[in-house]
Amino acid sequence: MSTANNQQLREQLIAAVVKKRAALARAHQIVVTLLEQQVDEQTFLSLLTQIGPENYADVVEERHINKLCGYPLCDVAVEKVPTKQYQICAIRNKVYDITERKKFCSGYCFKASEYIKSQVPTSPLWLRDTEKKPDFKLLPRENLKPAQ
Ligand SMILES: [Zn+2]
Repeated sequence: MSTANNQQLREQLIAAVVKKRAALARAHQIVVTLLEQQVDEQTFLSLLTQIGPENYADVVEERHINKLCGYPLCDVAVEKVPTKQYQICAIRNKVYDITERKKFCSGYCFKASEYIKSQVPTSPLWLRDTEKKPDFKLLPRENLKPAQ
């Protein structure tokens, strides 16, 4: 291989690394943005195209630590978090792990958050610009069953 080719490859490699780092830094910045109490729907949906499921999980976790409902579109404070990890349902005679559910103010927020998380793309962040942007959907409020 000629020196010129080597040089070109090297430049391509450096450009790829720079692009990757920028995408990761951007995702981190978005996580910080989504920790804010007030995030509107449009901003929220547009930011989702630039993060991965692990970033989304970080958002939920960080909001939970800051005593905010884990769902980024909800600004309800969750002050009283149950300390138990399991909940027993006497009617269904089942034990539920509520570790994740505890991070939300309501059954709706938990479901809405899981719904969004399932739509967050798993592809590498730095290749997202070559992909078609997903059409994210929010969980409609009327899906809420009265019991929850
Ligand atoms: Zn909530």
